[in-house]
Amino acid sequence: MTNECVFCRIVAGRLPADKVFENDTVLAFRDINPVAPTHILLIPRQHITGPAALDETTAAVMADLLLAAKTVAAQEGIEATGYRLVLNQGMAAGQSVFHLHMHLIGGRKLHWPPG
Ligand code: AMP
Repeated sequence: MTNECVFCRIVAGRLPADKVFENDTVLAFRDINPVAPTHILLIPRQHITGPAALDETTAAVMADLLLAAKTVAAQEGIEATGYRLVLNQGMAAGQSVFHLHMHLIGGRKLHWPPG
């Protein structure tokens, strides 16, 4: 955990967030700048800078994030209509927070390909 990381500060309870789910390994909260009616970020409690920083010792957090996303989608009532799970890696993808996070986006018709 680092003092500088905004998502680590949320994990530590030092920064408020609109939390919708948490367990031993994962925290989920509403994005402050939502792009859809449902826009939730799922993060590991552990500080991992992004998808490319995963290794054999940490890859299991991806399963935790996916299972949490499924639970949150059901909570949000969008499991039947569908939703999108997004991981941004690096500058070209628009990653702006360097703590691994999965976007759960839904509640409207989503376009493909994304911009
Ligand atoms: P990304 O571009 O994939 O790095 O996404 C980072 C996301 O984090 C953006 O959608 C931001 O709106 C969101 N975000 C940044 N700071 C916060 C915060 N304090 N609480 C909730 N969402 C945040």
